[in-house]
Amino acid sequence: MATPMMAKPEQGSASGPTVWKAFLGGEWRDSSNGATATLIDPSTGEVIGTVPKCTRADAKAAVDAAREAFDKGPWPRMKPKERAAVLQKVAELLVANQEALSLLETRNAGKPIRQSSLFDMGLAAEHMGYFAELATSVRWHQKISQPDYEGTIGTVVKEPMGVCAGITPWNLPILMAVWKAGPALAAGNTCVLKPASLTPLTTLELAKLFEQAGLPKGALSVVTGSGEEVGDTLLTHPGVDKVSFTGSTEVGRTVLAKSSLTVKRTTMELGGKSANIILPDADLEKATDGALFGIFLHCGQLCESGSRLLVPAKEQEKIVARLVEKARRIRIGLTQDYETDLGPLVSDGQRTRVEGYIQYGLDQGAKLSFGGNRPDRPELRKGFYLRPTIFSGVTPDMRIAQDEIFGPVLSVVPYENVDQAVEIANSTIFGLAAAVWSEKEAKATRVAERLRAGTVWINDYHMLSCHAPRGGYKQSGIGRELGENALEDYLETKHFFYGRESPLIPIARALVVPPAAKGGNEQPPAA
Ligand code: NAP
Repeated sequence: MATPMMAKPEQGSASGPTVWKAFLGGEWRDSSNGATATLIDPSTGEVIGTVPKCTRADAKAAVDAAREAFDKGPWPRMKPKERAAVLQKVAELLVANQEALSLLETRNAGKPIRQSSLFDMGLAAEHMGYFAELATSVRWHQKISQPDYEGTIGTVVKEPMGVCAGITPWNLPILMAVWKAGPALAAGNTCVLKPASLTPLTTLELAKLFEQAGLPKGALSVVTGSGEEVGDTLLTHPGVDKVSFTGSTEVGRTVLAKSSLTVKRTTMELGGKSANIILPDADLEKATDGALFGIFLHCGQLCESGSRLLVPAKEQEKIVARLVEKARRIRIGLTQDYETDLGPLVSDGQRTRVEGYIQYGLDQGAKLSFGGNRPDRPELRKGFYLRPTIFSGVTPDMRIAQDEIFGPVLSVVPYENVDQAVEIANSTIFGLAAAVWSEKEAKATRVAERLRAGTVWINDYHMLSCHAPRGGYKQSGIGRELGENALEDYLETKHFFYGRESPLIPIARALVVPPAAKGGNEQPPAA
């Protein structure tokens, strides 16, 4: 189905699958060798359309265009408030096109429509507006005193970094594109986005909104194609100054290694295995709702998903009974149905991977308390569905307690006391997020302080504020996105030293150039 904003003739027609083009250096183009990739609706298994499978040459052309736009184009030279106006316009266009974009996200990523319209699109517009505000709040020039050199002054100047590459995952396509392009462009950089191969569509639509909002040519490209080819080119191209990557820890390690060869600046937002801790005094009604929301939003395919539920051992049976009773009410369904709570996995491959983890759970002796298989309703058979799954009696060493599964699988891990709960919570390689449920906020805060995670919710889950920095401890990442310093990682810092009168300066210069009266000891060249 085509929507008004997708109805550009070159982007396909209303009937049949749509043919999308990549946005390379300000032009909508096919890949240089004509190769395409087919996109599937995870809910129905139907073909949605094709996108160009761009080559290394296409990725290189996009970087070269971004380099040119940075070195010679107007964008980095515009006033911050002029750049902010373009971003603000995009934020407004995101709102105006919310319905069409939600539908596209739903079809491409397999998100239930209620989630994509309320969560993804709402946040995308709000966050783009926030980055527009930040563009004007940067202290671009700051005079500093240099008391160590009395009589001199210095100026600290912030400048855009250059060409920024943004590589994004399939689970939050438009939001991640906004988190990459938004701060990079707000800071005056140019940007090349590489969306995930499975879900590039709303990122392409975002580029269209930037075009409409008047972003100069070449300042943004969207190169569709594989990580091995397009992603790799961005990591190794010397013309890229900064890489902002969101994806798995495994691929993140490769990204870091390759980016280091040309000493690129990096921001890494990686995987998670978040602990959701129910303390003995928690309100179990709220905590069990929060636990199910924590794990089953977007079918467990969120980096911060609360995939480990830590419960007091004595309460495990009671808590699991409540979880199961509530999980029965979760409505699995087609993603375009507004009643659907739980959609499919993003692909058949991802479903098979998650089923592998369900088998590990069984093999290692966890108790399957709910789900664990595919729904058998005929209308869901062509999609990539799995029932919400709850394991109990999980021990911290099991794979389902250590690995990021990225699917609708909750591991309930019992603990004996709070110290042990903290130890278990901190016992994975990840440190992205966590939550603590307790009727006593101060007590929950003391537990939260002991957790090695970048975000800790207290009596809540998933809530995201663009005013707060977000990122991971340990192998969940490097750096922070969002928050008032979100542009800092996209800026270089320069110091101007004005050598005015200072008693120290003649002394310092005399270290090399002796005062004229004393003369030097260099011998004149032989005649
Ligand atoms: P992924 O497999 O790591 O891929 C992420 C991106 O990297 C994709 O665009 C992928 O392209 C690209 N890529 C793959 N191999 C590459 C290579 N050798 N060089 C350069 N780029 C390469 O992750 P995913 O499966 O798409 O997404 C799920 C992961 O993202 C989970 O681990 C989740 O926790 C994480 N995530 C983290 C956050 C956060 O804020 N911390 C947010 C969302 C998601 P292809 O699609 O072509 O493979």
